Amino acid sequence: MDDFRTGFGWDVHELVPNRALTLCGVRIPFDKGLLGHSDADAPIHALIDALLGARAAGDIGSHFPDSDPKYKDADSASLLRDVLRLPAMTGWRVVNADLTIVAQAPKLAPFVPSMRKTLADLLGIEEDRVSVKAKTAEKMGSVGEGRAIEAFAGVLIRRKD
Ligand code: MG
Repeated sequence: MDDFRTGFGWDVHELVPNRALTLCGVRIPFDKGLLGHSDADAPIHALIDALLGARAAGDIGSHFPDSDPKYKDADSASLLRDVLRLPAMTGWRVVNADLTIVAQAPKLAPFVPSMRKTLADLLGIEEDRVSVKAKTAEKMGSVGEGRAIEAFAGVLIRRKD
């Protein structure tokens, strides 16, 4: 019988000047970027936590500690590839992934198609199995004041016997 698992992940990073903004592996032209030890791609970090959560295999910090200089400015897309190659993921395939990015600015809608394509390629699944939704925080809180970008991800994975 097929075995199914769901996972959920969340992440937030501070938005600061003089940093590149990379979301879902796509470089977004903007005068600020996300601060972090890696490239701070919050939606990919949320997706990694969702995948690890689906397999009860820890979290992004336990696999890629930010105390490790190896992950300084790390490309989060390559961290995602590493997660998909973990023994815990062997035999498992992503059925679908659904992400929400919360950002007051910049407008992300024009970049959603390339974000979906990039994630679909990384996950090895069709684009119609990957959803990326972009919202604002209605100017409320740190995200709404443009001081941070937040991301949520849900996944379903399946192991075929
Ligand atoms: Mg993060």
